[in-house]
Formats: sequence, C-alpha cells, structure tokens
Amino acid sequence: MNIRKGDTVLIKKGKDKGKSKVLPKDGKVVVEGLNLIKKIQKAKKAGEKGQMISVPRSVFRANVMLICPNCKRPTRIGYTKDNGAKYRICKKCGSRIS
Ligand SMILES: [Zn+2]
Repeated sequence: MNIRKGDTVLIKKGKDKGKSKVLPKDGKVVVEGLNLIKKIQKAKKAGEKGQMISVPRSVFRANVMLICPNCKRPTRIGYTKDNGAKYRICKKCGSRIS
C-alpha cells in the first residue's frame, strides 16, 4: 500500500471521479466526500427515527493515483533510500513525498 492517510488522490474510475483526501480504513482507500453510498442508520433508541446517511465506500486501489503535493499532478510513486530509510518520491518531479 503506497497510498497513506492524508494523501490527496485522484480517482480515475467510477461515478465520482475527482480528487480528495484519503481516510484511513483497514488498508483500503476510502476517499473523503467521494464515492458515497446511502445507508439507512437504524434508530439507536426507542422513539428515534432511522435516518439516511451518506458514507464513503472504499475505492479499489488500482483506480486511484496519488497527487504529488509538490507539482500538483497525478503521479506514480517511486521509492528511494536515504541512510537506510525508505522514502516515497514523485516519478514526475522527483521530489520526496512525506
Ligand atoms: Zn511531483
């Protein structure tokens, strides 16, 4: 998984193409505000009504691209090593990503 929490990604496929932030969820890519599905939330207490809520559905990893925070373009991710530590780099501009 080379996409991390807080990354901005571009969704390439699906009904909600666009870019947004990644939210953490069990190794899946869940994108804030996009790819929403309607769910009925059941009443928690007696006397309350159930309500419709929108929740983001996870997006297949292959359908998103990272947007480089430096050059603002969707890019593939490369890796580089510096003193034994591994860093992600933008394949387009070569800058280090977090
Ligand atoms: Zn870049």
